[in-house]
Amino acid sequence: MKEKLLGMTLQELKAAAQGCGLKPFVGAQLADWLYAKRATSWDRMVNISKAAREALAEKYDLGVSAPVGSAISSDGTKKYLFEVHPERKSPAPSTNCNQQNYNQIDKITDNCSVKEVASVTNLKEDSVVVDNSKNTGLDEEGKNTGKNWVDNGERGDGQGVEYIESVMIPEEERRTLCVSSQAGCRMGCKFCMTGRHGFHGQLDAAEILNQFLSIDEAGELSNAVFMGMGEPMDNYDAVSRALEVLTAPWGFAWSPKRVTVSTIGVVPVLKRFLEEERCHLAVSLHNPFPEERLSLMPAQKAWDIREIIDLIRQYDFSGQRRVSFEYTMFAGFNDDKRHADALIRLLRGLECRVNLIRFHRIPDFPYDCASDAVMEAFRDRLNNHQILCTIRSSRGEDILAACGMLAGQHAASD
Ligand code: SF4
Repeated sequence: MKEKLLGMTLQELKAAAQGCGLKPFVGAQLADWLYAKRATSWDRMVNISKAAREALAEKYDLGVSAPVGSAISSDGTKKYLFEVHPERKSPAPSTNCNQQNYNQIDKITDNCSVKEVASVTNLKEDSVVVDNSKNTGLDEEGKNTGKNWVDNGERGDGQGVEYIESVMIPEEERRTLCVSSQAGCRMGCKFCMTGRHGFHGQLDAAEILNQFLSIDEAGELSNAVFMGMGEPMDNYDAVSRALEVLTAPWGFAWSPKRVTVSTIGVVPVLKRFLEEERCHLAVSLHNPFPEERLSLMPAQKAWDIREIIDLIRQYDFSGQRRVSFEYTMFAGFNDDKRHADALIRLLRGLECRVNLIRFHRIPDFPYDCASDAVMEAFRDRLNNHQILCTIRSSRGEDILAACGMLAGQHAASD
């Protein structure tokens, strides 16, 4: 397989050009075409001679590939599906994670069933509501109804192919891209379809950046959130490289304020992110009580939410960089006064925002989304205690917008 140019730094592009017998300035031209002009083919790079392009193409791929399909919601949200060929490898040693932490996650992920989750959370069976068809785009058997799906018919050779999703969310002046960082995810959160599919490999920086380049709205994007498939801090080398290309003056030249990286809280890597990056941070919190959080999020065992908050407190979020906490509201699980008060205690004094998220139902999961009235009461309680809290509007429910649903269904149907 040829090396990809997409994802290379300016220095690396110059070195690549020199390696092909070309002047270093051709590397700068490549950066301009790929990152500033968002060129998706060699043909567009008209100020690079044909001979130079041919020499480069002998050795390198651009790393750009069109989505295999897309689905548009009635609210304008658009979900794209990409084919990728990820490497199935463990986190790079540079992430400095203790293997024991991962072993703990794998053990819990393998052994924990939804039934066990229900027992841990003390839900009576008759209070468990499972409605597989509601808001999921799935039929009664949990199969994709194919609603709104547009297939462009292009496919690779099927060797080592995985599917990832990106979602473009239009809001007034903004066009936000929700980006995937891995094929699947090993964190195993019980409320997440991606977590259920397990880990299928690491994306490289090109596969991450391609999501920005190869969608219809590539030239209109205003913001990006790394909240798609995967745990960004479990593939940090590729994610940090993508962030560098996104924010460098020779790259996309985006302000770091336009980018938010979400994490479950992989503590050693989070520390590195907080030291090195200026992008916003979002932490998946979902329950302030460690034992309850563990029942839905195996990673809690490896990286306790209290340890995560303690780490975050050591950094300054009063300026440009912001930290927010994602809190998906599950009826009867994390939505009462006891939880609101514990959350207030956990976050007291921290400059932050809490985003309450409406839950998109997924099959075989015991909880429904909390009602609007309950979410509003929860929000108001936090706001009254000086914790800034908002309810995030729900988008794209009719196109399998819950993370991992479309890719999972698509892989299953292949
Ligand atoms: S919620 Fe995020 S971290 Fe958890 S399994 Fe899904 S993709 Fe992974």
